[in-house]
Amino acid sequence: MLDDCVPWPEDVADGYRARGIWRGETLGDLLRRWAAEYRDRTALIDAAGDRLSYSALDGWSDRLAAGFQAKGIAPGDRVLVQLPNRPEFVAVCFALFRLGAVPVFALPSFRSNEIGHLARLSGAQTYVIPDEFNGFDHRVLARDALKECPELERIVVAGDPGEFTALADVEAEPADLPGPQASDIAFFLLSGGTTALPKLIPRTHEGYAHQLEVTSEVCATTGDSVYLAVLPIEFNFPWGCPGVLGTLSRGGTAVFAETAHPETCFALVERHRVTITSIVPTIVHLWLSAVSDTRHDLSSLKLVQVSSAKLHPELASRIEPAFGAQLQQVYGMSEGMLTFTRLDDPPETVLETQGRPLSPADEIRVVDSAGREVPQGEVGELLARGPYTLRGYYRAREHNRIAFTADGFYRSGDLVRLTERGDVVVEGRIKDIISRGGNKISAPEVEEHLTAHPGVEQAAVVPAPDEILGERVHAYVVPASGSPAPRLPELRRLLRSRGLADHKLPDQVEAVDSLPMTGLNKVDKKVLIARVSDQRTG
Ligand code: AMP
Repeated sequence: MLDDCVPWPEDVADGYRARGIWRGETLGDLLRRWAAEYRDRTALIDAAGDRLSYSALDGWSDRLAAGFQAKGIAPGDRVLVQLPNRPEFVAVCFALFRLGAVPVFALPSFRSNEIGHLARLSGAQTYVIPDEFNGFDHRVLARDALKECPELERIVVAGDPGEFTALADVEAEPADLPGPQASDIAFFLLSGGTTALPKLIPRTHEGYAHQLEVTSEVCATTGDSVYLAVLPIEFNFPWGCPGVLGTLSRGGTAVFAETAHPETCFALVERHRVTITSIVPTIVHLWLSAVSDTRHDLSSLKLVQVSSAKLHPELASRIEPAFGAQLQQVYGMSEGMLTFTRLDDPPETVLETQGRPLSPADEIRVVDSAGREVPQGEVGELLARGPYTLRGYYRAREHNRIAFTADGFYRSGDLVRLTERGDVVVEGRIKDIISRGGNKISAPEVEEHLTAHPGVEQAAVVPAPDEILGERVHAYVVPASGSPAPRLPELRRLLRSRGLADHKLPDQVEAVDSLPMTGLNKVDKKVLIARVSDQRTG
């Protein structure tokens, strides 16, 4: 167990083990078992159509694990992994799982601001990148990171390494490795962030193994399942809900898409007879607008999972007729707790709710601002606890005090109500984020960068409604006295030059004389959110 992680209380952990919820297996052990059972079956197919069998993935992971060890990576070391949807991502992760080193998942869209923060927070010494992706040279980013993060010392490149180490050259003769414990941290996901910078979410081997078990069960995943990974697989949803790993756990095949573009994805569905995929409402819009004209055969598709942002019932109702596949709504968070609608739920439950928790040991509560449970049907904040929901962020002692209740429930920051049947309906949120096309953007993070502009005295960033993206990033700025109000292109240029990922840049800016304040002397975002929503409807 790494220092600065909060374990489950011993009696709770013993209870999970006694009930067979945690089974003492590491993710590396699981791949060993899957490879023994499914051998030559296809585990992964990349975007070009190249196939990798279960045995080949198993062997590749072993060779990489030995190679990483030979390069000096030790159990417990953190490794920043920023790779696109390609088999390398899976092999690198399993290699690190087997070694007991801990991947930190970085989105391919992250730039120097995010990478620097993650490297410093995690203390990673190694950073794994592609050579280029989406027209961007990640080796340039790595050079910056090396300059700025003293702890970082090793860059491994999938593809042309330039002056760095090629992933292909890391491989070594498989060796006996001590390996981690099932209760150890397997990898870190990133929080959507209510604080200025993302937090690291520790996910344990046995906790995640349980998540794979329950999500695969609810989706009736089998050896015939073919899963299309459209969203970046650093997200919990495509990685393990059931996603790539849940599909592998049942002998199915995971297919990688490197873009959400409808025709590209529809071609992959046809070519590989894809049965299940998971997307966000923005992609639902995109695909629906293209599906009637497509020449591709989508008849293999059985299940479309939608999560990450509110799916409006009207949009939800168009999915089954358009794709000929069942809809499954999913609500959840990288921190753990997941709720799914079930395959045999009545249509109104699937269209109008986000379903129920998955594990027999999941616990949820809906509470008011004083922490008291609200009567069934009333809106309150969702609190969550269970065998795959974190007990604390990594290296965040102060923040953990407010993010969790004294008895270990995670405060989601989401406002929900429960139906009579116990299904969750997401009604809003109290956390200070913008959910843009399902990407979570921390408002304080963007505000901090905006105020670096000499012409900006104060900034407040809020969600503005957007039909396709769900929400856009709207920045209110108070110009510094005597300065002209900075314009959008200039602010976007500044933020990009400060190394912010593109999806976080403001979509619109509005200059104001002052910001409304609450009685507690904080910016009153409720007023600003109402104002920007009125502008659209007004
Ligand atoms: P992330 O950890 O990036 O997956 O973001 C988790 C957050 O996304 C949740 O706390 C919610 O605010 C939001 N979210 C996830 N699923 C849904 C959904 N089905 N409907 C509305 N919001 C959702």
